[in-house]
Amino acid sequence: MDKMNVRLFKPSVGEEELQKIKEAFERSWLGMGPALKEFEKNWAEFVGCKVAYGLNSATAALHLALMSFNFPEGKKVLVPSLTFAASATAILYNRLIPVFVDSDPMTLGMSLEDMEKKYDKDCVAIVAVHYAGHPLPMEEIMEFARQKNLKVVEDCAHTAGSIYKGKMLGRWSDISCFSFEEKKLMTTGDGGMICTDHPEYLKDIKALRWVGIDKDNWKTAKKYTDNQSVDALHWFYEISLPGYKYNMNDLAASVGLAQLEKLPRMNRRRAEIIRKYLDGIKGASHIMPLLPYEPEQYNYWMFGVRAEKRDELILHLKSKGIATGCHYTPLTAQPLFKPYAKGCEFVEQEADKFITLPLHADLTDEEVDYVIMHLNDFSL
Ligand SMILES: *Cc1c(COP(=O)(O)O)cnc(C)c1O
Repeated sequence: MDKMNVRLFKPSVGEEELQKIKEAFERSWLGMGPALKEFEKNWAEFVGCKVAYGLNSATAALHLALMSFNFPEGKKVLVPSLTFAASATAILYNRLIPVFVDSDPMTLGMSLEDMEKKYDKDCVAIVAVHYAGHPLPMEEIMEFARQKNLKVVEDCAHTAGSIYKGKMLGRWSDISCFSFEEKKLMTTGDGGMICTDHPEYLKDIKALRWVGIDKDNWKTAKKYTDNQSVDALHWFYEISLPGYKYNMNDLAASVGLAQLEKLPRMNRRRAEIIRKYLDGIKGASHIMPLLPYEPEQYNYWMFGVRAEKRDELILHLKSKGIATGCHYTPLTAQPLFKPYAKGCEFVEQEADKFITLPLHADLTDEEVDYVIMHLNDFSL
């Protein structure tokens, strides 16, 4: 077989997205406008949550999600070590302290046993990450949170559209955050969504995402209501809190509208590919699937394996033109988080075996077969 070049991730975009962008161009409205409104409505319907607001990233969503609870400075938030930086930097942005939790040896999701061990009276919240898209046991996490009076933020950056025990991921917790970064399950280039079934948590979100300005609330301002010629004050707005510049714009939302329609199809294709990988490496003794994948049940963002000879296998695949990655170096091994790193030894050691393999909706059967062939012909 000829040498192929197989990409690790790739956004699946084409005519549908271009059509939606064209409509935004024809309106000549690229900031916050009708496309964003429609995308937020469609996303809330898709997840089944009461409200959803478009932001420019999931990082921004995580930042504002934790902010919405007004925790006193210096309180602690439980977060897995095995996650993307943003799950934990959002804690630091809020002047809170991350308490890192080790991984479950099977699923690599946050270990509940370790979480209960790490908990103390200063803990106020949990950032729950569905690692690779594999659902956390949310019924147990929410029960623990209820007992200890903790808020739960679901980091849904690796999942979209998965139903766990009868309930959509992203609806189990107080606030959930989704990512539309270009490598995620669906993309808007960069973007994110913050969702909740408790709209009171997000009452200030419009001001927080747009430099403190909430145009929907400005008519309550006294100067406006007292003025006889209100129509002359159409330009009026009030700033009452230090907001950020975190809004999604209509250009991104246009791409999101098309991507959301394609998401079920893209998720089905990813499931087929994962099933092919699982069947294809069944006989291999030098590698095992990263976690107990159930592709017919849940949507996964990432497929990987654990390999004792990780670096050699990466080099072998590279020589065949196959891109690989590692998700992630545990945060407790990163310089920024070293001061908070305690007791995540399992995942810090285990992560030396992780290899992320190509997975995206446009991956062809030939490419998957090619990767499987070279996973299997790797000789120790
Ligand atoms: C990608 C990712 C984020 C951040 O998403 P952005 O939209 O890029 O800000 C947060 N958490 C996890 C687990 C991620 O993988």
